[in-house]
Amino acid sequence: MTAILVSEVGPRDGLQSISRIMPLEAKKAWIAAEAAAGVKEIEVGSFVPPSLLPQLADTAELVAFARTIPGLRVVALVPNAKGAARAAEAGVHAMSIPFSMSETHSLKNVRKSHPAMIEEIGAVAAIARAAGIDFAVSLSTAFGCTIEGAVSEDAVERLAIAAVEAGAQELSLSDTTGYADPAKVKRLVRRIKTAVGADMLTTLHLHNTRGLGLANALAGLNEGITTLDASLGGIGGCPFAPGASGNIVTEDLVFMLQAMGLDTGIDLHQLLKVREIVSAALPGEPLYGFTPDAGLPLDFAQGNHA
Ligand code: ZN
Repeated sequence: MTAILVSEVGPRDGLQSISRIMPLEAKKAWIAAEAAAGVKEIEVGSFVPPSLLPQLADTAELVAFARTIPGLRVVALVPNAKGAARAAEAGVHAMSIPFSMSETHSLKNVRKSHPAMIEEIGAVAAIARAAGIDFAVSLSTAFGCTIEGAVSEDAVERLAIAAVEAGAQELSLSDTTGYADPAKVKRLVRRIKTAVGADMLTTLHLHNTRGLGLANALAGLNEGITTLDASLGGIGGCPFAPGASGNIVTEDLVFMLQAMGLDTGIDLHQLLKVREIVSAALPGEPLYGFTPDAGLPLDFAQGNHA
């Protein structure tokens, strides 16, 4: 059975777009419960200045906690070299830096032009190498930008190559704003894999803004993508990309993969129970995705259903 890594990004991407601050103990319970359900990688937070994102101010404590969970790969987002140094000190297994393919979005989000970002990626790569930490560059707004509109695929290819030359160990294509469609995913994944090597691009980060999240995930799987980011209950967005909505729903993604006979190592029943922890800690916030409330069966042997 082909194994697909489902990477939970809700504690970072989800919580950064919700102004309410989830208590540290609830975050710990969420992370522990998802790991117990079989999730092997969690992006627990972001090393941005707490003044910008007070919701994620406890990331170092979460990294320390998550590191005590056996078998869990602990990831954090870093916006720059300063954040990378804090992430390394906290003890992450892997860090990723968002590199916006839309220069306007980049200037708004991190106040950096493309050349300045390439320089920052070089600095973060050096910190990661020295600390023995995995380092990914996430090519954000790769499928379009709410501010600039269409993003040129030529530019994405050029910037992907530049990121690798600056020291990225791997790349991920990120549909920050929900502009992707399956044909575009197929085209861009092929193109970037050809440009930088198939092994350099194994991850997609998708948002469900226009309801195409799982269709886009499937298009990526067909092109050899083996890691998919998702957030529990589909919470998430981007505070600097107006109109962006949540990530693809972890529960829905796991259901789809398992129904297709792909191995995720995740217990769907246990995963669905984690929703209770998240909704109790975020009263009033909507959780998306299917729920078993309708009494529909979750388990059916592959091939046994018409
Ligand atoms: Zn995102």
